[in-house]
Amino acid sequence: MSQNASIYEIHDDRFRYLTVGSAGLDELYDGCRWAEGPVWFADLNCLLWSDIPNQRMLRWAEGTVSVFRSPSHFTNGNTRDREGRLVSCEHGSRRVTRTEVDGSITVLADRYEGKRLNSPNDVVVRSDGSIWFTDPSYGILSDYEGYRAEPEQATRNVYRIDPTTGELEAVVTDFGQPNGLAFSPDETKLYVADSASSHDVTAPRHIRVFDVVDGKNLANGREFCSVDKGLPDGFRIDVAGNLWTSAGDGVHCFAPDGTLLGKILVPQTVANLTFGGPRRNRLFITATRSLYSVFLATSGAAMS
Ligand code: MG
Repeated sequence: MSQNASIYEIHDDRFRYLTVGSAGLDELYDGCRWAEGPVWFADLNCLLWSDIPNQRMLRWAEGTVSVFRSPSHFTNGNTRDREGRLVSCEHGSRRVTRTEVDGSITVLADRYEGKRLNSPNDVVVRSDGSIWFTDPSYGILSDYEGYRAEPEQATRNVYRIDPTTGELEAVVTDFGQPNGLAFSPDETKLYVADSASSHDVTAPRHIRVFDVVDGKNLANGREFCSVDKGLPDGFRIDVAGNLWTSAGDGVHCFAPDGTLLGKILVPQTVANLTFGGPRRNRLFITATRSLYSVFLATSGAAMS
């Protein structure tokens, strides 16, 4: 392990080819309470992200920050579907929504087997249009990131919304607190973080990987990696299949075989990140109060 610059911790020489040694960490905004859910809009050249406790979503365009949506129903994770529409996880209303091109809101999921969801946290869309999201209980544990409530679901699941029928199916039910999720570039694997160590220090701090079977089922779940500082929350995958995850001391990068390649050290606890910019080679990082970015020598997988 060596350091070539103040923000990089290199655990494997491959990391030198994924990062730009002279590229620093830029703080783009400081004024959130808990920044989350970054999503890049290349067509608008802007980033949207969530400031969960402040009930708002913000928009960053080079040099300017403005309020995109408030109140936001304590929106957490965001992504775009294959038609470019914003898909969001709302803690407050305990649902997953889509913002249509005319600005109206469509509810995609708010109940499973007749009972309310816990508090949808993060979401990803597969190329077939299916929407996959996690449903831990963080948004109903207190009135800080949602509204305190008793869970109606017996477990905290990963769900899939069928692109044809709109039906909801629980695809994994044995997580402590499922959180960030992303597909491998070829969509044959789904990675899902478990952040249960936030409230149970004996819980693993790991990301699991599953084989995607027939595009809709998950099999062969196993541990992919474990973070050694803090816990894994949101993450994304680059074009080569490397996984870039949030952690307590910054962003950790793991090779497709699970090897820790290196870290980008960030001054605040990182909750999530996404690739953006015209070349998708700029990593936008939501970290507690702030939004940061750093240019990389790789780029994000399509729609990751
Ligand atoms: Mg999350």
